Amino acid sequence: MRRLPGVLIVEDEPAIAELISVNLRHSGFRPIWAMDGATAQAELDAVLPDVILLDWMLPGESGLTLAKRWRAHPRTKAVPIIMLTARGDEIDRVAGLDAGADDYIAKPFSTKEMVARIRAVLRRRAPEMEEAVVTMGRLSLDAATYRVAFEDQPVKLGPTEFKLLHYLMTHAERVHSRSQLLDQVWGDHVFIEERTVDVHVKRLREALGDQASAMIETVRGAGYRITTQTQGMNETSAAA
Ligand code: CA
Repeated sequence: MRRLPGVLIVEDEPAIAELISVNLRHSGFRPIWAMDGATAQAELDAVLPDVILLDWMLPGESGLTLAKRWRAHPRTKAVPIIMLTARGDEIDRVAGLDAGADDYIAKPFSTKEMVARIRAVLRRRAPEMEEAVVTMGRLSLDAATYRVAFEDQPVKLGPTEFKLLHYLMTHAERVHSRSQLLDQVWGDHVFIEERTVDVHVKRLREALGDQASAMIETVRGAGYRITTQTQGMNETSAAA
C-alpha cells in the first residue's frame, strides 16, 4: 500500500542519470529525471518528490543556485537535497551545505552508498515512517498493519482517509492548509482540486464517529489540524 518514495534526479549526463535511475528503481524508489534546472522546476511545480539528487555542474543554472532557490521557496523548502559533484574539495562541500543541501556525494560514488545516503536523509526528514504506531489520546493508528482504533474499537477507513489521518497524527497540533495536505497526502498539487481535501476530511470524520472526529478541527481560512485539546469552542462542526 505504501507509496514508493520519489527521487528527482537533476543531472545533465544521460548515462549517469540512467545508472542512478536503474539503481533507485531496484531499491524501491521512483526516479524522475530532469536534465536541467528548468525541467526540474517544472517537475517540482507539478509533483513534489521525497528527495532531490542535484548535480552541481549543470547547463544553465548551477546546482548551487537551484539548491538556494528551492530551499528559500515555501513549496520546496522541506524537500531534502543531496548534492552530486565531481568536485571533492572541502570548500565546495561547505558551499553546498551552506546553500541548504542536506548531504553531499562526491563523484564517482558507489550506487550502494548513494541509496544509503538517500535512506538516511529520508529517515531524518520523516521520522514518522519509522514509528509504526501513533497514539493521540484514545485514538491510535498502526501504519504497519493499517489499523485504526478509538478506545480500542476498530475504525474502518478508506486508503486516502487512512493516509490523511496518518499525516495529521504524525504532524499533530499544527494547522495544515488544503494545499499542504494535497502535497503531503496526495503527493500532487496540480491535478486535484482543494475541495477534494474537504471531501476526505468529511469522510474521515464520519468514519471516526462523534467523539474522535472532534479532534479534527477546521481552522477557518487556514485549513485543518488534529488536536487533543478539543475543550471549549472550535469550528469543527460548523464549516467543511
Ligand atoms: Ca553535470
